[in-house]
Amino acid sequence: MSGDYVNPETIALHGGTYRADPATNAVAVPIYQTTSYQFNDTEHAANLFSLQELGNIYTRIMNPTNDVLEQRMANLEGGAVALSLASGQAASTFAIQNLAQSGDNIVSSTDLYGGTWNLFANTLSMMGIEVRFADPTDPESFRRAIDDKTRAFYAETLPNPKLNVFPIKEVADIGREYGIPLIMDNTACPILCRPLEHGAAIVLYSTTKYIGGHGTSIGGLLVDGGNFDWTAIPERQPLMNTPDPSYHGAVWGTLVPEALGAPIAYAIRARVVLLRDLGSCMSPFNAFMFIQGLETLPLRMRQHCSNAQRVAEYLNRHPAVEKVIYPGFAEGEFKRRAETYLSGGMGALMGIEIKGGMEAGKKFINALKMLYHVANIGDARSLAIHPASTTHSQLAGDELAATGVTESYVRLSIGIEHPDDIIADISQALDQAGS
Ligand code: PLP
Repeated sequence: MSGDYVNPETIALHGGTYRADPATNAVAVPIYQTTSYQFNDTEHAANLFSLQELGNIYTRIMNPTNDVLEQRMANLEGGAVALSLASGQAASTFAIQNLAQSGDNIVSSTDLYGGTWNLFANTLSMMGIEVRFADPTDPESFRRAIDDKTRAFYAETLPNPKLNVFPIKEVADIGREYGIPLIMDNTACPILCRPLEHGAAIVLYSTTKYIGGHGTSIGGLLVDGGNFDWTAIPERQPLMNTPDPSYHGAVWGTLVPEALGAPIAYAIRARVVLLRDLGSCMSPFNAFMFIQGLETLPLRMRQHCSNAQRVAEYLNRHPAVEKVIYPGFAEGEFKRRAETYLSGGMGALMGIEIKGGMEAGKKFINALKMLYHVANIGDARSLAIHPASTTHSQLAGDELAATGVTESYVRLSIGIEHPDDIIADISQALDQAGS
């Protein structure tokens, strides 16, 4: 039995076709640290290259260790197939480049990870791909930004620092009317949210965060939902509907469904064109590390969420804390979105505004003993950062406020230590911040 489990705890350990290593019967997934694979004969080689048969050619394009991770992640998301990549940044870049070329545009939510913001506002625009920004509080702003060159919508499920959950279904539904897929960066809330269930077409991860969990490896991943008809409005998706001169004139949108039984043209093209040409593959060693992380992901997410809930409640009552920004405390429409889309739990990220401004924020960080002061989220360890003096230090007052960061804002990524120990460290640091 393989590949047909529905519970995330089981999929994380058994999802996909891998049962034991076919060469040795090893149960743990081996690290296939090889660049290439011997062809059986010239016909076998020709079939692989012409995609008549799917199989291993060269590790830049596929690898058996990565394949196990990809199958498990696709199963976890309820998607069709996945593609592992060298980093979350590579995943965001591929996600767009797979649909948009010079002269095209995409519409993205304004609430983004800073690295994605830079990629979109600067590097993609230098490549001729315009990124139009839409306001996630108003789903209709995505519709208003569309023109005939719009190829995709892009957003994060749980973007920090504001931690306002994105209206996935509302925006996905608008996109589908126009043949525009919604790409969701779900890095901050694996297991808790499954964006494909709400209409997204592609899910993207920085596996560097919760999926790895141990803070050892950089990686990224795309999941193709297999739920989007790339050929429905052919002029909307030219890269899927016009002959590709780099692949003997293949038309990805029409070639793949017939051959594979699901509309996974997106993942196939990303693999055999973008990975082939741009080369940002995940190393088999890192794929192995992510397989180890994935095995305990559902268990860890539960602990992350319950610890975060306790910390948030503690902070909410603390006299030195002005405000706690946490999806579990959202109100009105934001509360509805948090409850609808984070049905598995409110996540482990929160922001606190400490009384006393910039100085108090810095003092708090410097006083922490157990929480690490790092520019990262999603580690098993609890982490903290003061954006105004680090990641957002180039921004002036108004610009800073627009991102949702105040001078005293501290971002916390709550880990899986005992909650009493997390609270004890935060408590002594708050005492010092106020002294
Ligand atoms: N997306 C989100 C939401 C992130 O937080 C990050 C990194 O912090 C990335 C993408 C980029 O991932 P990576 O650091 O693996 O390139």
